[in-house]
Amino acid sequence: MKIVKARIYLVESGGISPVLLELETEDGSRGLGEAAIAYGAGTTAAAGMVKDVLDRYLRGGVSPSDSERVWNEFYDHGFWAKGGGPVVMSGISAVEQAMVDLRARALGVPAYELLGGRVNDRLRAYCNGWYFGCTSDADLPMAAERAAAEGYGALKFYPFVEILAEGRLRHPSRRSVADQSLLRRALDRMKEIRRAVGAEVELMLDLSAGIAPDDTVRFCHALEEVGISFIEEPTVPGDTRALAEVKRAIPQSVAVGERLYSRYGFRDVLEARAADILQPDVGNTGGLMEARRIAAMAEAYGLKVQPHICASALSTAVGMHFSAAVPNFYWQEHFPYWARIPGHVDVIDDPVEDTVKNGVIPVNDRPGFGVSLRREVAENWLWAELDLI
Ligand SMILES: [Mg+2]
Repeated sequence: MKIVKARIYLVESGGISPVLLELETEDGSRGLGEAAIAYGAGTTAAAGMVKDVLDRYLRGGVSPSDSERVWNEFYDHGFWAKGGGPVVMSGISAVEQAMVDLRARALGVPAYELLGGRVNDRLRAYCNGWYFGCTSDADLPMAAERAAAEGYGALKFYPFVEILAEGRLRHPSRRSVADQSLLRRALDRMKEIRRAVGAEVELMLDLSAGIAPDDTVRFCHALEEVGISFIEEPTVPGDTRALAEVKRAIPQSVAVGERLYSRYGFRDVLEARAADILQPDVGNTGGLMEARRIAAMAEAYGLKVQPHICASALSTAVGMHFSAAVPNFYWQEHFPYWARIPGHVDVIDDPVEDTVKNGVIPVNDRPGFGVSLRREVAENWLWAELDLI
């Protein structure tokens, strides 16, 4: 079976820009992958990187079975893969995912079967994006209460963000909360949210490398009375020593990984024992097999693993297959409330998000990743089409 065609879609969807790849084989089968850097700057570059990977490694009749061969060719000879960042590694991630999707569909099995099979039937899912639509601090407790009432047992938030009038969040500027009133505001927010949801709902915080380590340590100690499950990205990605220092200094668990790429990028964090939870993004760390390898490395160090997910509903589905096959799985991230964002576009049929009940994702056994492109919508966002034969 040969891959004969590729289509790259660059979707504009309510402030994020998912980059999707569809590969087609000679028998008309289609497989999907996502270059998951849908937020921030870089999505057009990611679409271009997907195109470059296809141009260099998938021309001339490549089989979907050759994803490992393609990955290693790319890593050894693509030059920028070694030490590569989000653009480079999201490019190979999308291609590898689409090849895995095709292979699983050809075998008539769910993608997790290619990772050794399912060890989890139900995935605990924490809710992100529950704050969509909030335009002030005063709105937060009610929004949190609403998500908890809809069954979510865990909510994530960004305590230092500025809530803009149109309802979007803006991370702290200049890596600083030199104005200590910002620390007090963050603490007050979390106390109010805790009061609204009660003691049973887990709360987790993402600092997105937004503030300095000394302020982080001060804040995390003040947070103790609120009860927080983990602190995500407390330090600048790549500064493993700072991460280890913060981890030893704070009472909460530390999670990190959406800005670490490939098994090589996670190694230092493990060797320094600088985190408790790893969060590889299957769509930017190097793909499904690469994320599975990172999970195994984490397991050997006694760490939990949860896939980082913030892109289209395809990434949630890919994350479900990863999580289903990982023994040290902790939580699956997902955003059930994208539709509240003006301009949101649904490009995926049968999304995992629609199956979530009481904060649990039931693992389904549909072939491949179990989702398909909504062709009539996606066509509006076609960025490139390639004949690979
Ligand atoms: Mg994050």
